[in-house]
Amino acid sequence: MGRAPGVGRAPRVGTTSRVGRASRGAAFAAAGTLAGLLAACSGAPAPSSPSAPAAAPVTSGPVTTGPGDSPASAPSASATAPSRPLAGRVVVIDPGHNGDNWAHPAFINRLVNVITEMKPCDTTGTETDAGYTEAAFNFNVATRLARLLRAEGATVILTRTNNHGVGPCITQRAAIGNRAHADAAISIHADGGPPGGSGFDVIEPGLIPGHNDAIVAPSHRLALDIRDAYHRITHEPYANYVGHDALDVRTDLGGLNLSTVPKVFIECGNMRNASDAAKLSSAAFRQRIAVALAAGLTAYLAPAGGASPPAPGASVPAGGASIPGVPSG
Ligand SMILES: [Zn+2]
Repeated sequence: MGRAPGVGRAPRVGTTSRVGRASRGAAFAAAGTLAGLLAACSGAPAPSSPSAPAAAPVTSGPVTTGPGDSPASAPSASATAPSRPLAGRVVVIDPGHNGDNWAHPAFINRLVNVITEMKPCDTTGTETDAGYTEAAFNFNVATRLARLLRAEGATVILTRTNNHGVGPCITQRAAIGNRAHADAAISIHADGGPPGGSGFDVIEPGLIPGHNDAIVAPSHRLALDIRDAYHRITHEPYANYVGHDALDVRTDLGGLNLSTVPKVFIECGNMRNASDAAKLSSAAFRQRIAVALAAGLTAYLAPAGGASPPAPGASVPAGGASIPGVPSG
């Protein structure tokens, strides 16, 4: 379905995917419903026209950034968690892109050095056919995750604190984790993959000798813990169009190349796939995602930790009713 009159926005095409941006962009442009093509995580530059209408209103609140959000669907944060297994731990959460990146092409298109290449400072991200942007999704999940981790005692730092700004550059997103001496960092994304592809994928840093030697192994462990928890709790399948067993090793992402702390990206699903888009557009599913990411981070940071998240391998009811913070409806 097309965008409602007056609330359209320039499209986000692709994210960190290396697949099919050009063909998607061509299809969108041909459909005549889009004002122009904007950049992907690692893709083409944004257009020079700043005339696209404003993005859908997004507040700074964690539960009003996407379809399905309402007070009734607000997460019930695990403020009463019986333990604080992450006390003393620092987690940096990077919600990929930003809500107004599309309107600031000069800023996000300037090239930055990510060791293996020069690439744009930031990109716009993708969106669903219904116009739910990846930037809004990422921020919504990030704020839900932050709440859960703080309830477990963690110190949580977000690389951006709302969804109506621009940037920061991917270099800065890495630097924020480095400066915080984070015990773990995660960059949250949803993919702009081929419409026929679905599933999730965790991206971990490949070795760049002399640069990231120290974080490759711990980042791999983090990736495994995130993958296993995500699969177990969300029931989202492994991506069938990228990676292998929901893992992908890359050396072209600034957020990973420049990190000095263990870090992974996650593509929570494929926004260009109808089935995945429906899930990602559900507030209840986003809360489940946040719970899964919190469980993965806790498994990595406190493997013998408390009872808040399910232990690895623990039985998780399909309904998720016993998972802290997951609405049963
Ligand atoms: Zn992205």
